[in-house]
Amino acid sequence: MVILLGSIADDYTGASDLANTLTKNGLRTVQTVGIPDPSLALPDVDAVVVSLKIRSVPASDAVTAAASAERWLRQRGAGHVLYKICSTFDSTDAGNIGPVTEALSEAAGGGGVLVTPAFPETGRTVYLGHLFVGGQPLNESPLKDHPLNPMHDANLVRVLTRQSRNVVGLIDLTTIAAGPGAVKARLDSFRTAGITAVIADAIFERDLETLGEVALETPVSTGASGLGLGLARALVRSGRISSGGATTADAIRPVGGLSAIVAGSCSKATLRQLDIAERSMPVLRLDPEQLLAGPDEIAAAISWAGDRISAGPVVIAASAAPETVSRLQSLYGREASGHAIETATSIITAELVERGVRRLVVAGGETSGAAVDRLAIPAFLIGPEIAPGVPVLRTVGNAQGDMLLALKSGNFGGEDFFAAALAMMH
Ligand code: ADP
Repeated sequence: MVILLGSIADDYTGASDLANTLTKNGLRTVQTVGIPDPSLALPDVDAVVVSLKIRSVPASDAVTAAASAERWLRQRGAGHVLYKICSTFDSTDAGNIGPVTEALSEAAGGGGVLVTPAFPETGRTVYLGHLFVGGQPLNESPLKDHPLNPMHDANLVRVLTRQSRNVVGLIDLTTIAAGPGAVKARLDSFRTAGITAVIADAIFERDLETLGEVALETPVSTGASGLGLGLARALVRSGRISSGGATTADAIRPVGGLSAIVAGSCSKATLRQLDIAERSMPVLRLDPEQLLAGPDEIAAAISWAGDRISAGPVVIAASAAPETVSRLQSLYGREASGHAIETATSIITAELVERGVRRLVVAGGETSGAAVDRLAIPAFLIGPEIAPGVPVLRTVGNAQGDMLLALKSGNFGGEDFFAAALAMMH
């Protein structure tokens, strides 16, 4: 298998989002969880997204992990590697977008790297280097209060300069509107001046198509799913797609087995989806304090599911309303309670799979990451979209046999998401 487009994603749900975008734009795509074991047989695909968890780790760890993933992708033919970051440029002055971008560029022999988090579909646009989230500049958006990466500056040239060794350039919208030739000339002039990272404006998808075309001829780019869209469309236009394009039908071949939903997201959308699910499926609401107190609540949940699951899908949820969540957080701390509940929901998920669940929906970004890690699923083939940004995933090389999953982060999906997801999994 020769990989046409490689990507290294800095978190798991971001990786799924990108893999979904690549698939929708014509590339047969697989998402791996970490760097695959050499024994893993991957299907024939155009694009591989290696999911890492390096968004909020020390920069030197992020650089080391990304460099290994880059070597793995290059050894399998990837001519271009996209470093997939969040469309809100989540990072701090310590990194990790700058250090990883510079390291990937160096590993590829240097040169200019186009950097843009623009993703118009979700309202992320960049103008004169400033990132807008919907109608607000980044520093006035809710991202200013992000618990790990608070964003206080919308000027990405400044933001990236603070986390880079090198000067950072800007290619503005006027140049991008002039087309790929003008962008390439500008990028070349930055490279001659010894500049590595270059922030690129983009407001419309056509801007990302221009950037994708130029980026594809360079070894490395850094961006969100929007740049992925540009790269995928450029690849399809180039006629280099050998897989015949993305067909998602084989990703949803029936797997049989039992089905279950596990929720750890406390977002408004998930809470509503749980209320709606309650009308048609048995729903167990876990007691978060009991979950933290010891293993009994987990054992009780598994026994509850065992009594019902052969009759149809069951739902197990740690999710709670904001008052309950903040009470638990004030008692045990925000990180400690979140982490303990993720561990509990991942154990429950693994036990359900042990008992024959093969069709699984997990609600919550961190909750999904913990579940996928505990299940030790090596990779996913991307299937059709259930709701915007959430595809059906088919496991690749899974020890328990083929499974179909939907991993839903926070606010994604309509109110009947759970039933809609299960209706696509057989
Ligand atoms: P989202 O995608 O909505 O952000 P995540 O799974 O990423 O969902 O994050 C939700 C976090 O809340 C997880 O760390 C989860 O363990 C934690 N959590 C789940 N239920 C509760 C609860 N009842 N009280 C406190 N924290 C909870």
